[in-house]
Amino acid sequence: MKSFAYSRATSNAQALEAARARGTQFLAGGTNLVDLMKYQVEQPVTLVDINHLALTEISQIDGGGISIGAMVRNSDLANHPLVRTNYPLLSQALLSGASPQLRNMASTGGNLMQRTRCYYFNDISFSACNKRAPGSGCAALEGYNRIHAILGQTDKGPTSGETCIATHPSDMCVAMAALQATVEVEGRGGRRTIPFAEFHRLPGNDPSRDTTLREGELITAVTLPSAKFAKNAFYLKARDRNSYAFALISVAAGLEMEGTTIRSAGLAMGGVAHKPWRIPEAEKALAGQLASPENFAHAADILLHGAHGYEHNRFKIELAKQGVVRALTVAAQGTSEVA
Ligand SMILES: Cc1cc2nc3c(=O)[nH]c(=O)nc-3n(C[C@H](O)[C@H](O)[C@H](O)COP(=O)(O)OP(=O)(O)OC[C@H]3O[C@@H](n4cnc5c(N)ncnc54)[C@H](O)[C@@H]3O)c2cc1C
Repeated sequence: MKSFAYSRATSNAQALEAARARGTQFLAGGTNLVDLMKYQVEQPVTLVDINHLALTEISQIDGGGISIGAMVRNSDLANHPLVRTNYPLLSQALLSGASPQLRNMASTGGNLMQRTRCYYFNDISFSACNKRAPGSGCAALEGYNRIHAILGQTDKGPTSGETCIATHPSDMCVAMAALQATVEVEGRGGRRTIPFAEFHRLPGNDPSRDTTLREGELITAVTLPSAKFAKNAFYLKARDRNSYAFALISVAAGLEMEGTTIRSAGLAMGGVAHKPWRIPEAEKALAGQLASPENFAHAADILLHGAHGYEHNRFKIELAKQGVVRALTVAAQGTSEVA
């Protein structure tokens, strides 16, 4: 690990002031950043510790939603009574991730900002990685691409400076996408609110950028709108091991039901793209329809439209389709008690 300077912020203003210096990164739980520093993928000049900021509250907001401070730990969020009762989809997604020890450290802001688990990004002995070394190419395209993207990727060949087939790894974010959260940020230019769909980005012609957060900006909170899917929610995660493993594919499904008819739906997938994958047309196609296998399969087809895989991950396309149908079917049957 390269040596770095460390400072501790006790107010947002202090953190923002410290972040003016080039090469500064915020340190939250450190469960992703410190690993990447050890691998020399990240080499910050200064770490600004934000663990002492007053960003640890979960509170109700006007209009019926909730605000989640950026330093709320994943365990506290998953187990908070308001979240368990009103947003079980979020609890389920969080509890499917990592391990209890990691969830005790991992923060809401850090989870939003965690980087891809692409093997070629995480190992600097591979020289071709457009995300880590812009313009160097993409080793995953013709390498071992089992965990990689099937949707929204930039694929112009292994030597193109734009190709990136990495996926976004978070479970929490898939639920937040389906719940249509918003991200509150504070920067030198003031505060702004970013709709969740616009927070993470597709690789486009700059795979090095995962999000639309500007340099030096601090995530202060995530807000969720009033709960619609408490009674009918299910987070499905398909992975190689039953714990301590990232999703091959995941599906966050929330339904607002009137008898057997769907009033509205929230639907997003993880493990398939550079960002949580949500196509509002798939949700619209479910609204006003019967909760039936045919209608669920139709929504899955909309979500998976244009999917294409590679040597080791083509199986994901069918797995994702079946996963969407299964998640919607279980959601329609009613939310189970969160473990
Ligand atoms: C073995 C292992 C298994 C895992 N399995 C899963 C899994 O199955 N599912 C899953 O979803 N995740 C999984 N994770 C990832 C884990 O959820 C993330 O590492 C964690 O959420 C990151 O949060 P953190 O607070 O530790 O962030 P840090 O590591 O402290 O920071 C990560 C990044 O976020 C930035 N950052 C942090 N807070 C802010 C803020 N408020 N504003 C702006 N930038 C900020 C940091 O500067 C850094 O760039 C796993 C991790 C490990 C090590």
